[in-house]
Formats: sequence, structure tokens, C-alpha cells
Amino acid sequence: MFQMTEFQGHERVMFAHDALSGLRAIIAIHSTVRGPSLGGCRVWAYDSDEAALRDALRLSKAMTYKAAMADLPLGGGKSVVLVERRGAKTPEMFDALGKAIDELDGLYIAAEDVGSTPADMARVRRFTPHVTGLSPADGGVGDPSPTTADGCFIGVKATAARIGRPLDGLHVAIQGLGHVGYGLAERLAATGARLTVADLDENAVRRAVERLGATGVSADEIARVPADIFSPNALGGVLNARSIPELQVAAVSGGANNQLATAEDGDALAARCIVYAPDYVMNAGGVIKMCAEYFGWEDTMVDLRVAGIATRLDAIFAEAERTGRSTNRIADEMAEALVSPPALSEAS
Ligand code: NAD
Repeated sequence: MFQMTEFQGHERVMFAHDALSGLRAIIAIHSTVRGPSLGGCRVWAYDSDEAALRDALRLSKAMTYKAAMADLPLGGGKSVVLVERRGAKTPEMFDALGKAIDELDGLYIAAEDVGSTPADMARVRRFTPHVTGLSPADGGVGDPSPTTADGCFIGVKATAARIGRPLDGLHVAIQGLGHVGYGLAERLAATGARLTVADLDENAVRRAVERLGATGVSADEIARVPADIFSPNALGGVLNARSIPELQVAAVSGGANNQLATAEDGDALAARCIVYAPDYVMNAGGVIKMCAEYFGWEDTMVDLRVAGIATRLDAIFAEAERTGRSTNRIADEMAEALVSPPALSEAS
């Protein structure tokens, strides 16, 4: 198990088992160099325990990078709750998870993720203060998606500037019209962008067509639409060996997590001279909002950090141009430098 390549400098990995509730969970703490590790609690019916551990290790490292690039006083962590089948979670499991998190004494802060809800986080809160993502009724800031959409909009603007296109008349092909994608579409439509959209949910497409004047296409077509920018806001792995040769855009800029199937796919985009805005820089709005909840930040502090997404992207684009390397590799290196203990970064 400890040979797994996904172990990359992780500080601590905790397995939590509670016979009474049936909780089986893994809490992975990748880094606390910049502050306590924050990351969502994913509830999933994994094919195997190894798959769950791999997910926790991979996602916690990504959170370290995301928080560092957003200049947050946070490290990266993640928890996964293993369930037999989708929906097979109970409130008591989150009580037990809260107890386990509390034992870490603030090294890990939980939040919502795929499969968990504000109500689940409220159960965690019964046993530990180290949790965010609560509903306003429970003292939280509520849904972080609007802040994520704000950050993505700022990121698309920076990407458009990079390819020399004004927002007015900018043609953006949006994949996924959920919390983030629709919010981004609204903000873009308000600035005069032309939108082509796709979602598996026909109602979501109809809403964008009727309210935002978007053109709807099928989910199969969206990554092949000739446009200025392709904006993935649904699934991971959409930029891969099959899709990249078919893209007909100058840039890719969206909020979905893990857009590149592999780091080499980022090189393939660069080789096609397609500007790629790294996903974990684009979609940091949500974690910025969670951070605000935990530390009690004012809105101005949140706005400042969200606005910083453009500054960070500009720096990545400039470095990619200077070195001729792909933006995803530049971003990873910048993030790694930001989380290296000072003595190490001075030595390197
Ligand atoms: P969501 O579930 O609200 O929306 C996702 C949408 O994508 C749904 O409408 C779904 O029907 C659609 N979809 C799924 N498969 C599709 C396909 N093949 N083609 C077209 N549409 C498809 O999720 P969300 O909260 O909007 O998150 C979207 C992405 O952003 C995810 O990758 C998520 O991890 C990432 N993200 C979200 C946040 C946040 O604050 N919500 C923060 C960071 C990252």
C-alpha cells in the first residue's frame, strides 16, 4: 500500500473506522506548510479500498496547490467516506467522522464535496469546530459556487486578454451548466459574450438559450465547436488525446476540476498553441469562500483573493511564453515553490 505512487510527501494519512455507525473513511493531509489543510469530504462507492486511498492522496495534493496559488493560509487535505452504494450514508457516520477529525486538532478542516451536503457538515460540526461548508442557518456562508463562478469569470477575462480578444463578442463554448457553468454563462452574457452551450440536462440548456440568448448544441459536439474559448465546467479528464486534436479554439478556460487527463495533455495543448488556464487556479473561488467561513474574513478579503486569480494567470501565461513550456507544468512548479519550506526553496 505504501508503494502507491500517489504518496507524494503527504504529511499524514488517517484511517477512521467506526463499528457502530459503519463509518469507513480516509483523511489525507498532504501539506500544512502554509496552514491547516482544508479539503472536501467525498462520499463515494469506490471499486476498492485502494481506489479510495488513491483518490484521497491525489485530491489532497491538488488542494495544496489550489490553496497555495490562491495565496491562502491553508494547506491541502481531503477526506473520503467509503460507502457500499451511492446514497448509503447516514448522519451517524458524519458524527463519527467529526470525532476522527477532531483528533487531528485542526490539522484538517472538512468541507462539502461530491456526495456530501451542508447537513452532513452540520453533523461533523457537532464533534469538531474544524469544518466549513455549513448552511447559513448553521452559521456557515452557504453555497460557495457563486464565488467559484466569479473567479472563473475573472479567469476567462484574463484568458481572453491573453489571446487578444475583447469580452464583447467573445465566443465561449461552455460545457456544463450547473452551479459553476451557468453562473459563468450569466456573467459572460452580461458583458456581451456569445455563448454556445451544452449539458446532459436539456432543461439547463433551454434555460441558457431562453434567458441568456445562448445557442445549444449536444454534449458530444461542444468540445468541437469553433469558438474563441472552450470552457469545461462539468467533468474531469475532458482534455485528452482524443479531444485535443479536435478543439477549434484559441484557449481553454473553465472551472471543472482535473480537466487534463494527463500532464502530457497540457503539453499537447501548448504544442497546438492553445492557451490553457490551469483548472486549480481558475476554480479557487470555492476554497477562498470556505477559508473566509473558517477564518471569519470580510467580503473585501474574499474579493481581493478572487481578483488575484487574474494576476496568477497572467504570471503563468507570461512564464509559459518566456520558457515555451506548458501552463500546467509552470503552475505546478509555482505551487510547489509556494509550499516548499523556505530552506528547501533557497537550496533549489
Ligand atoms: P454541478 O453538478 O452543479 O454541474 C455540473 C453540470 O455538468 C450538470 O448540469 C451536469 O448535467 C453537467 N454535465 C455532466 N456531464 C456532462 C457532459 N458530459 N457534458 C455536458 N454537461 C455535463 O457541478 P458544479 O458545482 O457546477 O461543478 C462543476 C465543476 O466545477 C466540477 O468539475 C467541480 O468539481 C468543479 N468545481 C466546482 C466548485 C463549486 O464551488 N461548485 C468549486 C471548484 C471546482
